This record gives sequence, structure tokens and C-alpha cells, in this order.
Amino acid sequence: MRFAERMERLGTENAFEVLAEVTRLRRAGREVLSFAIGEPDFDTPEHIKEACIQALRENLTHYAPSAGLPELREAIARHVSETRRIDVHPDEVVVTPGAKPILFFAIHALVNPGDEVIFPNPGFPIYESVIRFVGGHPVPMPLVESRGFAFDADHLRSLVTPRTKLIILNSPHNPTGGLLSPDDLEVVADLARTYNLWVLSDEIYSRLVYDGTFASVASLPGMKERTVVLDGFSKTYAMTGWRLGYGVMPAALAEHIARLVTNSESCVNTFVQYGGLAALTGPQDAVDRMVAEFRARRRLMVEGLNAIPGVTCLWPGGAFYVYPNVTEACRRLGFDDGRALQQYLLHEHGIAVLPRTAFGSPLPEESDVYVRLSYATSRDNIERGLERMHRALAR
Ligand code: PLP
Repeated sequence: MRFAERMERLGTENAFEVLAEVTRLRRAGREVLSFAIGEPDFDTPEHIKEACIQALRENLTHYAPSAGLPELREAIARHVSETRRIDVHPDEVVVTPGAKPILFFAIHALVNPGDEVIFPNPGFPIYESVIRFVGGHPVPMPLVESRGFAFDADHLRSLVTPRTKLIILNSPHNPTGGLLSPDDLEVVADLARTYNLWVLSDEIYSRLVYDGTFASVASLPGMKERTVVLDGFSKTYAMTGWRLGYGVMPAALAEHIARLVTNSESCVNTFVQYGGLAALTGPQDAVDRMVAEFRARRRLMVEGLNAIPGVTCLWPGGAFYVYPNVTEACRRLGFDDGRALQQYLLHEHGIAVLPRTAFGSPLPEESDVYVRLSYATSRDNIERGLERMHRALAR
């Protein structure tokens, strides 16, 4: 069989391999406590489901405009205007099936072969995959533990060249839970304005913040016109399976992105968009409850991990992940890397975590070992998982 050459450049999310392994083990009768999954374990709030069901009953089952239903684009424009304190017009909004297509489409619309794109490493693996797919050159921006998993400003400046086209940010961050500070955002904005760069700001976890406040690079002077804000419904409203997200960007770029939607999926399911409208315009108490629960679990997780010999864990500012440093635990157990530790925890102790390699290739200067745990699982599971981890590592 002959496939197009570009398919060799398309990566994937290794996390799915671990999830498949967990499923296999469970089918074989093993009890696995999973901290591998990146989605809220809550149900979508009732009023959102009702709005979707109502739309189906009213036969709102036909094509919608590719950029999204006008009333949803308006609600998103209002929401982003309020939360980022910028003036967003509905023409600057594109609705997509999940937030992921905003990444895929924005990189396609902005990056030429040979253009350099600076992206966070460790980071969501889809960034590097799509950069390579379009023939761009991925330039990793290391996120360092000593800075609370932000970048080093001088290092970031040194990565910019005449070929740099785009900087990708993700705050709160997957996998570390790190939050970029207003000063960090100023550094990026300064570079973007000086060198005429685009910024793709992945803000999918913007409502899940526990320490400090969320800030968007798009709010800084001169940045709205060069920023694509990515956000959506998956994490905030526990709607991962609905596939509903959006991007906010200059209207001229939004037209290109909408044309990419026309060429691929035509539009997001119409009745699903009514669910999104109810999510943004309806009561927000379910989100508040979910954030409060995540905050309590974060405490359990961080305190529990720090009590395990050979493990140290920073307090993540947002999202629902912790990214403990397990270098000492690996050394004690004689493991060369985090993948070996991950396999040991899974196969010998029934605990699923993700290795650092699920978030890009470790950088040459990186000597410490990390794994990611998600606390989007019950407190009971977290307590039992921590006990097992303690037994597995305190040897
Ligand atoms: N960006 C980051 C950093 C994520 O972690 C995820 C999902 O895991 C996404 C984007 C994609 O979100 P969605 O499910 O809405 O496509």
C-alpha cells in the first residue's frame, strides 16, 4: 500500500497507548487505578443536556454555518470579552468539534514549510505533531521545574530567529498544571510585537485555576490582532465526548479557519451547539462545584505524593494534573527512565500514570525524571492509589 509522504510526519497521543493497556489489563481481571486520563470524571450538567435534547425535539438537526451558529458565536464573543477583558466580535469566533481542530487548522493556516514554531516541552503532543505535518520546524521551549514549569525568558528570546512564525502557549498547562505569570506573558507579547509573530494561546484549562488568577496573552496591548485563543467546553463543563470547542482570532484568519471547517466537517452538530449555548449562558454553579472538588483532590494528591520517599511534587496552579519529580525514586529502584517506572507501576502495582515521553521528547539537558498523574478521579481512588504508590516506591 502506498500512502502520502506527509503521513510519516503525523504523530499521535501516546496517552492512548497507556489507556489501551489499562483496558487490556482490566479485561484480564486486574484492578487498575487510573491516573492517566485527561478528562473530568463528572457528568455534563443537566441543563446543558436538556438544551441539546430540546434542540433535537425542535428538529434543529440540519446544517449550521461552518463558523458556528450566530447565537453561539455571540455568546462566545461575550464570554471571551468578559473573561479576557478585550472586545471580541462574533466574526472573530469559529466553533469547532472540540478545541483540537483549532490547533490543527490554525497551524495549517499560519505555518509554511520551513517556518519555525516555538512550542512548550513538555507539552500537549499534538502541537509538535501538527507542526511537523505541515512541514514546519518545531522548536521546543523547555518548561522548567525551578520556575514552576514556566519558560526561562532569556532562553525563549534566544529561540526566536528570522524564520519564527508562531509561538504556542498553554496555561494552565498540560501536563504540569503550571500557570504563566503576567510577566511571562509580557515577555511573549514583547517578542511577538517586535518580530511580528503569531501566538496560539491554548486556554482550554482557563476556568480550572486554584492559585493566582488566569491571564491571557490576548489581553495585552497589540496582542489581540496576532493571537489565536483556543478554548472550549470539554474540560470546563465535562463535555469531552460532545466535541465542542472554539477559537477567537482576527476576522480575516477566522474566515480561513471557517473554510477549513467547510472543507472537512462542514459544521459542528447543530443540536450540540445549543448545548454549548446553554453552558455559557446558564448557571455556572456546576463549574464552581467541580473546581472546588478539584482543589480538594489537588491537596490530597500533592500532599500524598510529597510523603512518598523519592518523590517531590510542586503545587500546580491549574488544570487537573500533577507532574511529580520521580528522579530519586527511579534511582532507588534502578530504573533508567520514567517509562520503566510507569511500566512497573502499571504491571506490578495496578497504577496507571503517564510517562514524560507522552509529552514530547525529553530535551538533551533534561536529567530529571517526571510522570503525569491526573486527579480527575475520585478522592477514594486517589487515596488508594497513593497508598499503592507508597508501597511500590518506598522500598
Ligand atoms: N489542549 C490541551 C492542552 C489539552 O490537554 C486538550 C485535551 O486534552 C485539548 C487542547 C483538546 O481539547 P478538546 O477535547 O476540546 O479537543
